[in-house]
Amino acid sequence: MSDALSHLQRLEPLTKLLEPNHETRKSFLNDMDAHSEHFLKDIDERPAYVLTEDRGQAIVDSPFEETPGDLSELLELYDESVNHPGLNPASGGHLGYIPGGGIYTSALGDFIAAVTNRYAGVYYANPGAVRMENMLVRWCADLVGYPESAAGALLSGGSIANLSCIVTARDAKGIRSADTPSAVIYLTEQVHHCVTKAIRIAGLGEAQIRYVPIDDRFRMRADALQELVEADQAAGLKPFLVVASVGTTDTGAVDPIEAIADIAEAHGLWYHLDAAYGGFFILCEEGRRLLPGLDRSDSIVMDPHKGMFIPYGLGICIVKDGQQLANSHHYSAAYLLDALDFQDEASPADLSPELTKHFRGLRMWLPMKLHGLAPFRAGAEEKLWLARYFWEKLPELPHCERGPYPDLSIVLYRFTPPGIDPNQFNDRMGKHILADGRVFLSSTRINGDFYFRMASLAFRTHRHTIEKALTMLGDGYEATLKEFQAKSVD
Ligand SMILES: *Cc1c(COP(=O)(O)O)cnc(C)c1O
Repeated sequence: MSDALSHLQRLEPLTKLLEPNHETRKSFLNDMDAHSEHFLKDIDERPAYVLTEDRGQAIVDSPFEETPGDLSELLELYDESVNHPGLNPASGGHLGYIPGGGIYTSALGDFIAAVTNRYAGVYYANPGAVRMENMLVRWCADLVGYPESAAGALLSGGSIANLSCIVTARDAKGIRSADTPSAVIYLTEQVHHCVTKAIRIAGLGEAQIRYVPIDDRFRMRADALQELVEADQAAGLKPFLVVASVGTTDTGAVDPIEAIADIAEAHGLWYHLDAAYGGFFILCEEGRRLLPGLDRSDSIVMDPHKGMFIPYGLGICIVKDGQQLANSHHYSAAYLLDALDFQDEASPADLSPELTKHFRGLRMWLPMKLHGLAPFRAGAEEKLWLARYFWEKLPELPHCERGPYPDLSIVLYRFTPPGIDPNQFNDRMGKHILADGRVFLSSTRINGDFYFRMASLAFRTHRHTIEKALTMLGDGYEATLKEFQAKSVD
């Protein structure tokens, strides 16, 4: 026997272990089903945050081995070390940062995408998959009100989507490396940090960054923007980009979209909207009323893994003049010349930094088709009203000082018991709340002062979750107050 033949005889049976048979697949699916049902059965009672001593150590204590493992044991290990400690973003009680939840039917889409492993990067490789992804982009572009010329891409999240838009703005406005020191970008201190990170990654780290002053509700002041742009132009600098937030992550504030559009138009600035958090509120009438003029931007980012409740790993960038997005991201390779026969649909690989990628379209398309759009629209509206309801109820809590009426679905508040430093008190109270964990609330600093946040965006957050949060805050307040009173007696 030849060397090659004997090696192949030895290797094939081992490689084939990667192809479980029908019976084994069924049994895997049974275990998976049991596991996810166990997780979902009491999702509402599960804490939204769990502190553990070992912080998931068991996962690293279980090394990789040459021999097969047992799925149900592995799922137990997963449950103990990954699923249990820390934040539970699937919980409706996740009211911190920006939640979303992760709908079950999206997992079904991921499952089929992985089993069939379709190639969604290039049109000719899988025309249907690419059509599906472009159709989803088109659907979002229509929501925003962009014209036919718009193009975009399904990316891993808002950070990468913002990066793609900023790179496009840089190229569309002809900012070369040599121009960078005189190029000017306008944003506010409330902009998401991924935007400043993207500016750096895009090679614009040496550009002039102007932090436009904000009003008392944390929104960009259009009059201040106008003054800054005019001063910079008079000084011979090149203002080229303004980034506004459609819902800031910290306070949910919406910058004045149309007033900024007027200034961007008058001064030839690229107008980018970071709507990663707030964009999908336009699914409902109430949201459309709050967010007029999105179509006046040049580019926009929306995160389906927030406002469409898709599990993590999906952010969308859309550029009004799609050719500009392609100019910055297209590529060509000799081995892809076959693709040139297919010109009727853009390939995602020409519109984003990625080539081979997760077929993300299916995890959004399947839920939209299966549930229909109505529940998504209702979800968007419900989250607005939940925040307003919470804001209305806050005065029932002792010495609660609430921030402004929410622009979207984030509420700021803190507690100011007489005679106690509010920063010390709220900071301490935050620890009680984290240890309680019935719901998860995060905090922020506004002009150096500690504030709690409540962000309603998880699809599993409903009225009773808000009641639970209010109860927990009341309990947390009492426990913290007792602690401070005990200290002053000491
Ligand atoms: C979440 C968020 C981002 C970052 O998006 P990721 O999906 O986390 O990468 C950017 N901007 C805003 C306003 C956000 O809320």
